[in-house]
Amino acid sequence: MEPFGMMDALGHEQVVFCRDEASGLKAIIAIHDTTLGPSLGGCRMFDYRSEAEALTDVLRLSRGMTYKAAIAGLDLGGGKAVIVGPRSSKSEAMFRAFGRFVDALGGRYITAEDMNTNEQDMEFIGRETRWVTGRSPAAGGTGNPGPVTAWGVFHGLRGALHHATGSPSVEGRTVAIQGLGNVGYGLAKHLRDAGAELLLCDVNQQSVERALDELGGEPVEGDDFYRAPCDVLAPCAVGGVISARTIPMVQASIICGGANNILDDEDRDGQALRARGIVYAPDYVVNGGGIMSVNGELRGESRDKVLADAARIYETVREVLGRADREDLTSVRASNLLAEARIAAIGSVKGLWTGKV
Ligand code: NAD
Repeated sequence: MEPFGMMDALGHEQVVFCRDEASGLKAIIAIHDTTLGPSLGGCRMFDYRSEAEALTDVLRLSRGMTYKAAIAGLDLGGGKAVIVGPRSSKSEAMFRAFGRFVDALGGRYITAEDMNTNEQDMEFIGRETRWVTGRSPAAGGTGNPGPVTAWGVFHGLRGALHHATGSPSVEGRTVAIQGLGNVGYGLAKHLRDAGAELLLCDVNQQSVERALDELGGEPVEGDDFYRAPCDVLAPCAVGGVISARTIPMVQASIICGGANNILDDEDRDGQALRARGIVYAPDYVVNGGGIMSVNGELRGESRDKVLADAARIYETVREVLGRADREDLTSVRASNLLAEARIAAIGSVKGLWTGKV
């Protein structure tokens, strides 16, 4: 499909191709929708096989950010950037050149860390533009959003439990967590503190041992994660793990985790889970603490305010799952409709709504 055809299909406002010969920068910035506010989304670096693949990725990811910000209740739109190339080609000049392109957009796009970019890269960008967030505490930022994300996932999980069982209490419930990094380890700690039993899984054996030492629980490995006899599966590592292959293995009645893009195919797998009576709390609702954290940094909000906002993911998950049941929809479809309704309502207040996300 031609680029304008893709923008039409997904509803994008603006796509900017950026090239800087001296530093070798090749980047694409996609602004999906700015009805609610400036577009925000991380800058990913990846050695794409083709330009078409890079464009498809940035268009898809930026649209996802519109929905994530809207359902999180933020005054932000959806955007994303990709820098094309291997990590080994990184340089100060490349990120400063990227920062100048971001600056030229005058605040319509705000960038942050993402796959293969880090705090140091954000520092370089920040020397050319103020439209960067998720910066280190040393540079005046709030640092790693992982702890806020984990707090939000914990409350999302309580919301899913409440929906499925009538009680939000995690005490005595068994939760299997895949991925014990920033998000998964933080989630495990909140769950342990609230009296849950833990089944812990990570490809890195040291991470598993550390978590078992510090938090207790039992280890699970490989596909035994999906088969775990437990109440909740919490994928907190990589995307695409809940799929046509793994859904038949699932014994848990709830899937609720912090990873992005947990479902391999949103429609197909969402419907398969619904048919099996497994409650799926949409990932982009549950992991919204991350965007709340960077939004808080942008707006100078207190840590307490950001954590209180993340705790409200509990209510949002209940609202999403309630609507899915009432209207017999997949939970992702239900949350998309809620996000679109908020964009439409706030857009019309501003006189901005065009009728299409
Ligand atoms: P991280 O890199 O700190 O931790 C990921 C952990 O998962 C690592 O310990 C790694 O060894 C493990 N892992 C990788 N592949 C695995 C596999 N196949 N099976 C089991 N374990 C595996 O990352 P993070 O910041 O904790 O993020 C985890 C997920 O949450 C990612 O999908 C990320 O996109 C998403 N997310 C993170 C944030 C945030 O604030 N950090 C916000 C929103 C979404």
